[in-house]
Amino acid sequence: MSDRAQLARLISDARRIVAFTGAGISTESGIPDFRSPGGVWSRMKPITFQEFTADPDKRHEAWSRAFSGKAGWTGRAPNAGHFALARLAAQGRLSSVITQNVDNLHQDSGVPAERVIELHGNASYATCLDCGSRHELEDLRAPFLERDEIPTCRWCGGLVKTAVISFGQSMPAGPMRAAEDETLACDLFLVLGSSLTVFPAAGFPLLAKRSGATLAILNREPTELDRVADLALQGEIGPILSEIVP
Ligand code: NAD
Ligand code: ZN
Repeated sequence: MSDRAQLARLISDARRIVAFTGAGISTESGIPDFRSPGGVWSRMKPITFQEFTADPDKRHEAWSRAFSGKAGWTGRAPNAGHFALARLAAQGRLSSVITQNVDNLHQDSGVPAERVIELHGNASYATCLDCGSRHELEDLRAPFLERDEIPTCRWCGGLVKTAVISFGQSMPAGPMRAAEDETLACDLFLVLGSSLTVFPAAGFPLLAKRSGATLAILNREPTELDRVADLALQGEIGPILSEIVP
């Protein structure tokens, strides 16, 4: 049986699938991944959480980047890979998507928001670092661009930051716990477009495998965990998933 046919079989036999996605599922939407040439960190140095909270100039720079769309994380549309997962969700076989992405494209493709577990947050809105309330970027844009007002919380006056988890910021406790529960409960753990080099995220496929799930990896290039996977397939996510998820 070909690798593709094997992946199709694993997906059709599974009853409780967890998809684990990285930047690779969004490259077909025009968002560069982390490592490839042109990737965001080859073009600009990340602003750490500590820099953001301590330095008004860094906050200004962070908001300039957010509103210029320089990171390229927002304003894109989901692609065939996202839509294939949305079909699996609609069939009741995808229990969750655990994602390292911050682009909101799983939700935009129609996967219910409560099934999307975001390990690195979300760039499409902002939160107050003190009271946690949500702020929409649209409401913050004009005051910043026209009057140079760095966003603060309209409820408590605290600092407001896009809802991504920055370097130096701890992993979000709720999503980490949810991701672990989902990983332990699934029968197929499907990695899509992640080099699996970033921990703690890359720990989830190992946990799945250890707890008895089948581990399948679909990525353009070999990953760190191919040797422990039941199936490791090299290829493009959109075309392959479109073919095998009716
Ligand atoms: P990564 O860059 O380490 O790995 C992405 C992998 O996807 C690579 O191995 C690449 O070969 C593969 N890939 C790219 N396009 C593909 C395609 N069409 N089909 C199959 N495979 C493809 O990404 P990562 O492991 O997710 O880690 C990068 C970190 O940077 C993440 O934690 C994420 O938070 C952040 N990031 C997010 C976005 C986003 O939200 N879209 C984009 C860039 C970076
Ligand atoms: Zn607040």
